[in-house]
Amino acid sequence: MTAYPNMLAPLDLGFTTLKNRVLMGSMHTGLEETGDWNRVAEFYASRARGGVALMVTGGIGPNLEGSVLPGAAMMTTEKDVINHAIVTDRVHQAGGKIAMQILHAGRYAYGPKCVAPSPVKSPISPFPPNELDEDGIEKQISDIVNAAVLAQQAGYDGVEIMGSEGYFLNQFIVTHTNKRTDRWGGSYENRMRLPIEVVRRTRKAVGTDFIIIYRLSMIDLVPNGSTHDEVVQLAQEVEKAGATIINTGIGWHEARIPTIATSVPRAAFAWVTKKLMGKVSIPVITSNRINTPEVAEEVLATGCADMVSLARPMLADADFVTKAMTGQAAKIAPCIACNQACLDHTFSGKLTSCLVNPLACHETELVIGAADAKKNIAVVGAGPAGLSTAMTAAQRGHNVTLFDRAAEIGGQLNLAKQIPGKEEFWGLVDWYRTMIADLGIKVELNRVVNAGDLTSFDEVIIATGVIPRDPKIPGQEHESVLSYIDVLREKAPVGDTVAVIGAGGIGFDVSEFLLDDGHSPTTDLPLWMKEWGVTDPAEHRSGLAPEGPQPEAPARQVTLLQRKKQAHGKGLGKTTGWIHRTALKMKNVNFVGGVNYERIDDDGLHVSFGEERTDPTLIAADTIVLCAGQVSDRTLADELIELGITPHIIGGADVAAELDAKRAINQGTRLAATL
Ligand code: FAD
Ligand code: NAP
Ligand code: SF4
Repeated sequence: MTAYPNMLAPLDLGFTTLKNRVLMGSMHTGLEETGDWNRVAEFYASRARGGVALMVTGGIGPNLEGSVLPGAAMMTTEKDVINHAIVTDRVHQAGGKIAMQILHAGRYAYGPKCVAPSPVKSPISPFPPNELDEDGIEKQISDIVNAAVLAQQAGYDGVEIMGSEGYFLNQFIVTHTNKRTDRWGGSYENRMRLPIEVVRRTRKAVGTDFIIIYRLSMIDLVPNGSTHDEVVQLAQEVEKAGATIINTGIGWHEARIPTIATSVPRAAFAWVTKKLMGKVSIPVITSNRINTPEVAEEVLATGCADMVSLARPMLADADFVTKAMTGQAAKIAPCIACNQACLDHTFSGKLTSCLVNPLACHETELVIGAADAKKNIAVVGAGPAGLSTAMTAAQRGHNVTLFDRAAEIGGQLNLAKQIPGKEEFWGLVDWYRTMIADLGIKVELNRVVNAGDLTSFDEVIIATGVIPRDPKIPGQEHESVLSYIDVLREKAPVGDTVAVIGAGGIGFDVSEFLLDDGHSPTTDLPLWMKEWGVTDPAEHRSGLAPEGPQPEAPARQVTLLQRKKQAHGKGLGKTTGWIHRTALKMKNVNFVGGVNYERIDDDGLHVSFGEERTDPTLIAADTIVLCAGQVSDRTLADELIELGITPHIIGGADVAAELDAKRAINQGTRLAATL
């Protein structure tokens, strides 16, 4: 008897059957753009082997004007068909099914030739779109239909027509972007004409036995978006037009409400999809922040949807479904929804991967094979760098001993997990604990290792991490001064007014910790919705609360300081930095930049400004928290080198600047792959 009967139940689509209820949602990985179709094929085939029922590719453009970027993958030629057939063949050999997403970006396309219903520029694009005339609209429809026909020729099991997230079809649906007065604008019937025509003509062109998923925006989260009644009407028309499945889209890309970041509660939007259940007769898929089999099962068991879409969790673990099926759910590498190696990479023009799983999208390049000879390996430091090295080395057959002076594994991940909105880090540390035990790695905790302890090992890995930088501020020994470690690990008492020195990732996180009264909105969906101003689209158009965000009162008055003059938080994650900045602004944090730290005394923190050190100012604070960056802890590495032993130095012990768990895990995994 499985623990996930709903998630693992097959789904009969009439002409074909999906083996379970898990869809791998569309993700733009950048793989198609490499032109290495073997690599693309291996990415999808490894997930097919991992048991997912149906996968959707990243968005593929139907024409130049609709492609997200110049050079983005398209489906327009015979050559494209041949390339994509490499992928579909490999997926089918692996027992999987795959649909190609047709993504017309409309005004989100990054280029001056982008098109839209009306010339309304998007706030997230520098290019005002060109308004389409009747012929132009007809061309877009036939290009989309043509892409579907070519996808069918390439062997895909279906297509997903992207109609959400504020892309082209979505732009026609709402008055936010559609100002037309012809038959494609004005009334709702006119505004939904385009998506319905696209589905109807696609069905006509591909015949009956081909999956058409329509991705429908169920809560737009932008002004003048759809009401719930309009969403239902569109869903019913899309069904009549020939769609096989309706998938859920949540929020436009320009929405100022987080929808998939780690601070969003798990399955936060499943209730939105549930409102459509029973109103159409084709299967409905829900998505967003579903990252464990337990959450997926709960969502399905409570009737929120017929299927769940997991996208990033399939980067973190290709074998998600197989592990759930075989009683090994605890071994599923968890997606912590950090976006650091996936979306942040996409938006920086880099290939997607995964913080937790550096093999993602690197399946043909980073291969973890059996070691030629079994070695005794010591890993000192059980932070993410040491843990990933130990795990990968043990997977390759080595004998691994993992040391840490702390009482638990995890290193700084144990500080990260204290932050409200970063609860997913608990699961990551738990997963490492499970894997370390499963792989038979010998773990010695509460053990301060000296160089002399390491002489008998074949290989020594130093992953001793970092120590806080000493900012050398006169008076910093004052009793009001704490380090981030005192606050997060030792839970030292903190006063009502706080000055945080340093506005890097840790300064922001410590501020969030101090503003919270110990109750995280991430674990309380109604509170989170109130905090961000999300409401039921049946009550208010678009799901935007008319009163706007209503955050809880801050637990403390926080001033966040940095020496740089630039805006705070510039170095935070590309796709998540705005969320941290907004969260702190909503809690009235005082951002102060361009300071010199003059001294600390009984009155608080004294600062001045600019090179001239003018405008002496007192930041009155009961507590001052130092978050002034970190430096490598290389004490042990230096001792070993003195003894004539050359260790491998990784993670923060190697380079402290711009260190994060992504780099630590990637470096650890790649080193272990070579030992
Ligand atoms: P560490 O995690 O520092 O681990 C080093 C380990 O070595 C420690 O457990 C230590 O006890 C042990 N050790 C040291 N010397 C010895 C010795 N002589 N003998 C035995 N053991 C020893 N990164 C992200 O990517 N995303 C985030 O969202 C994020 N949030 C963060 C939030 C906070 C509040 C903090 C503090 C950090 C955050 N980070 C985040 C940073 C991330 O945690 C670090 O980059 C990462 O942990 C560094 O990994 P590491 O393995 O090199 O070192
Ligand atoms: P950081 O990002 O390098 O920030 C250090 C801060 O301290 C900066 O604001 C810097 O700003 C200030 N500073 C540097 N030297 C100083 C000095 N001598 N005196 C006073 N202030 C000084 O480092 P961090 O915040 O410690 O974070 C450590 C690592 O963990 C980072 O690399 C980060 O990527 C990672 N992390 C990531 C996340 C995430 O969400 N991805 C979250 C937390 C941590 P000024 O020089 O302008 O004063
Ligand atoms: Fe999930 Fe982070 Fe990996 Fe992206 S990088 S898949 S968000 S764990």
